[in-house]
Amino acid sequence: MVTVEKALELTNSNINKTDVIITILISEALGYVLAKDILSPINMPPFRQSAMDGYALGSIDEKTYNLIGEVKAGDDTDPKIGQGEAIRIFTGAPAPAGAKAVVMQEKVAIQNSQVILQEPVAVSANIRPLGEQIKEKDIALSEGTAITAAGIGYLASLGITHVDVYQKPSIAIIATGNELVPPGQVLKHGQIYESNSIMLSAALAQKGFDDISFFKVEDEYDVTLSLIENTINNYDLVLISGGISVGDYDFVGKALNVLDVEEVFYKVKQKPGKPLYFAKKQRTTIFALPGNPASALSCFYIYVLPTLLKISGLRDHYLKRGSATSTANYVKKGQRAEFLKASLKDGKVTILDGQASSMLRSFALANAMVYLPEEVTEVAIGDTVQIINLP
Ligand code: AMP
Ligand code: MG
Repeated sequence: MVTVEKALELTNSNINKTDVIITILISEALGYVLAKDILSPINMPPFRQSAMDGYALGSIDEKTYNLIGEVKAGDDTDPKIGQGEAIRIFTGAPAPAGAKAVVMQEKVAIQNSQVILQEPVAVSANIRPLGEQIKEKDIALSEGTAITAAGIGYLASLGITHVDVYQKPSIAIIATGNELVPPGQVLKHGQIYESNSIMLSAALAQKGFDDISFFKVEDEYDVTLSLIENTINNYDLVLISGGISVGDYDFVGKALNVLDVEEVFYKVKQKPGKPLYFAKKQRTTIFALPGNPASALSCFYIYVLPTLLKISGLRDHYLKRGSATSTANYVKKGQRAEFLKASLKDGKVTILDGQASSMLRSFALANAMVYLPEEVTEVAIGDTVQIINLP
């Protein structure tokens, strides 16, 4: 049995980012992590650009300017403009080389082809300089950055079509248990609906992991053994639900021992999720999660997700942590560290009712977990507690 801190350290130190790098279209890059720095192939903007609909001015000291021409967005022209002259210009249009500033059309009066300023204009006003956002060959986005919708737009604006990213891991989810039936069937006495695999796959999908295969296995040693062996040989991450406790029909641990995996830890001094198991075999990472749904999901967020994000190359792979003020008293029942489903709002955190590891209702309503380390035995109203934001 290890402490939470040790378990976090061991998952982190035993995992490396993948060395498999793939080149993909930016339209398919959402959620991937850049495997190389991206250098801008162009200056952005690629020319001095008007930021307003208005008038380009050949000088800024006069009050009145002669209107001598026009430039629209997309025009490939560079009309000459001199002292006391103005050119009609629109947002995004190339500013004439001789333009000293652009004045907004709302700030001028037009009379007989003359542009009359209503207030003075500063030099370079409303002109975006060449390369203002980024210069050619500068780093546009660096290695280890997750690609967002804005990131895709930014790369497209630089004319980039493909990026090198870290391959996302392939994932096998194995649900163990004779009692489990898929939602949609009528339950017989003794049966419950299988909810962990769909829940874990949703939590994975939320973070962009979609290469998932599902398996269901009865509590029988031989089939458990061969299924786990098979998945270890074929997937980057094997996520097993249930069967890792100490019951007579929990065969996951026995199978993993026989399969000669490199066990890193089994059991963490925490509630929920004590029977968590973490191992490696060559390139494959193995987590066996306790079957109780809230335990499985807690372990997923605390250990599995950061591990997956690290494998995928992300620099900041832990969930956001912080602190908040407790709205109520809470007394721990045991010695273990606790992760409590909670609702966080405006810096105040409320520990929700129904914290049993078999219950998901509180998790379904939670946006954070309160973390109480081993040494914290109780919380009083107004105490500052550690929190982990849920995605
Ligand atoms: P286990 O870890 O296999 O001892 O399971 C602990 C508890 O979680 C038992 O009450 C199981 O019925 C329940 N459980 C295990 N796997 C699942 C699952 N995939 N979906 C929902 N409940 C589960
Ligand atoms: Mg079971």
